[in-house]
Parts: sequence; structure tokens; C-alpha cells
Amino acid sequence: MTESASRVAIVTGAGRGIGAAVARRLARDGFAVALLDLDEAGAKAGAEAITADGGRAIGLSVDVSDADAVDSAVSAVAEQLGPPTVLVNNAGITRDNLLFKMSESDWDSVMNVHLRGSFLMSRATQKHMTEQGWGRIVNLSSTSALGNRGQANYSTAKAGLQGFTKTLAIELGKFGVTVNAIAPGFIETEMTAATAERVGMNFDDFKAAAAAEIPVRRVGQPDDIANVVSFLVGDESSFVSGQVVYVAGGPKA
Ligand code: NAP
Repeated sequence: MTESASRVAIVTGAGRGIGAAVARRLARDGFAVALLDLDEAGAKAGAEAITADGGRAIGLSVDVSDADAVDSAVSAVAEQLGPPTVLVNNAGITRDNLLFKMSESDWDSVMNVHLRGSFLMSRATQKHMTEQGWGRIVNLSSTSALGNRGQANYSTAKAGLQGFTKTLAIELGKFGVTVNAIAPGFIETEMTAATAERVGMNFDDFKAAAAAEIPVRRVGQPDDIANVVSFLVGDESSFVSGQVVYVAGGPKA
């Protein structure tokens, strides 16, 4: 039995896309996995697929920006699977618009899911990690943190997550908890498909145009991110903390 067989991971936004791939990968690595998502059907379907493959998983419907819902969900995970010592803050949304057209609701929604959601989830789970003397938090940032036209809200939130990551790494390191961020470039998911639709492009043409600008000449897949999460939540990365790993097929994409 590997050490991770006794460990419990929470992945937010795990109903589809990158979060679903991360949940599958962590289950393969031996973690019991709680899949949290606004979309209950997606979270439960992902958990059932993991269970059918011989893993342990539950799916819960949670809005990560709702403090009470987060606290109840983390308690439910601890009761049903055991104390969660791995947290992947992956839930995310886009509400893209140029600054002069961006509404207050576009701004607040993006801040609430990415920043408030990661704060609430981390605050609720750190208790279990510090009690166990071991933990891993991975936050999903983005290359958009470096600036991206039409994403003043999203790039601000993703840059904010990098400061959050470094601060938690400083606060929690002495408890055996590492905190890192992954900043993906273009990953093929419903989020990027929605962006293609918004700019009026066929998704295949949109991906081809993106790939032409990426040094490795392809767009990323959810498993490209899951592979890096797998490393960051393992024991071999225990001296890596407070880092932002750009996973973008080049230094920036
Ligand atoms: P996605 O396909 O849109 O999946 C995001 C998931 O998060 C959805 O299942 C969504 O649920 C869920 N979610 C949204 N708001 C939530 C909330 N308040 N509480 C709980 N769950 C919520 O996105 P993705 O492409 O996999 O992206 C995953 C993460 O990677 C995001 O943080 C994103 O910003 C980041 N990222 C993605 C890319 C990319 O190219 N795809 C690049 C850089 C960073 P619903 O379906 O119910 O809305």
C-alpha cells in the first residue's frame, strides 16, 4: 500500500475539464478523492467512474464562494473519506470583456469563485493538514496572470492567486504543508471552447491558431495539468513550495 492510499484529496471544479482529469489522476495515484463542483451531476458521475475503476471517491455539489457550503462540504469529506490533506483549488469561471464594457457583476463573480473560493477552501482544509502534520495545496493560476486583453477580472484573480500561494507557503510550511500554483496556458476544455464561441471562431481553427504560437506547437490537454498536480501533491516534492509552475508548452503561451 502506497502512503497516498491513506490520504484524501479534494478537487474543486472537478465536474469536467482540468478538475475531472486531476481527480482521475489522483485516484490512480492512490488517493481517495472528493470531487466538488457546482454541477452535482458532473461531480457524482466523476466519482462513480473512479469507484467503478476500483478507487474511492465521492461527488458533492458545492459553490466554493459560499462559506457555509464550503465548511459543510469539508466536514462531510472528513467524515466520509477521512481528513483531507490535499486540496486542488481548480474551480473557475470566465466573464471576459474589455474594461469599458465589464460589469460589476462580471468583476465580482470572477473574484468570488477564484479568490474567495480558494481562500474559503484553503481555510477550511488547513485545519486537517496541520493536525496531520502533512498537506498539499495546489492553486490553479493561469498565463493570463501576466496580462490578457479582455480579462481584467480573470488576470487580476489569477495574479492574486500567485500571492495567495506564496503567503500560504510561508505560513503553513512548518506544519509539513506545501503550497504551489500551476499556471496553465491554452488547455482544451469547455472553457476554451466557450472563448472560441465568444470570439466567433470554430474551435478547431481557434486551437490551430493557438498551437501555432506555442513553442511545442500543440495546445494542452487536461492530463498535462494533472501530471504536474500529481508531482506537486506527492512526497517527492516536499522541498518545492511557494512556486508557480507555468505549464504552457513554452515559457509563456
Ligand atoms: P471548465 O471546463 O469551465 O470547468 C470549470 C469547472 O468549475 C466547472 O465544472 C464549473 O462548474 C466549476 N465551477 C465554476 N464555478 C464554481 C463554483 N463557484 N463552485 C464550484 N465549482 C465551480 O474549466 P477548465 O478549463 O477545466 O479550468 C479549470 C481551472 O483551470 C480554472 O481555474 C481555470 O481558470 C484554469 N485555467 C484553465 C485554462 C484553460 O485553457 N482551460 C488555462 C489556464 C487556467 P459548472 O459547470 O457548474 O459551471
